Amino acid sequence: MGPTCTSTYCQKSKSRHCSTFDEERRKAIFTEFWNMRSWDERYTYVKTMVKKVKKKQARSESEERDSSYQWNLSSTEGEHKQVCRKMFASTLGVSERTLCSWLTKEKQNVVPTVEPEVTNPQTINKPLSEED
Ligand SMILES: [Zn+2]
Repeated sequence: MGPTCTSTYCQKSKSRHCSTFDEERRKAIFTEFWNMRSWDERYTYVKTMVKKVKKKQARSESEERDSSYQWNLSSTEGEHKQVCRKMFASTLGVSERTLCSWLTKEKQNVVPTVEPEVTNPQTINKPLSEED
């Protein structure tokens, strides 16, 4: 799991809730994500949490690609709260590049060619805790 978001932009922004996710909650999300049995499940999770937002009416295919994404993490109450992309990637322990490729790929191509990109294993005690 990577470091939490410390962006002042996010702190000021009303639509970003990075700071509402404390380390405990982030760890819970991280653990839940890596306890999933397959990459299919992780892919589905990411697809559920990330919403595609069109910046404006797309008039061409190239504009279509400029659509941005809205990244959400679920709170303790199960509420989806918008965070920034860095916060999302760092909490799940997946690189932004991997996430972006998932969002543009079809389901059958989701198994990454790289190992899970856990950047700071020492910041958590057990990346994959024992069964329940
Ligand atoms: Zn942020």
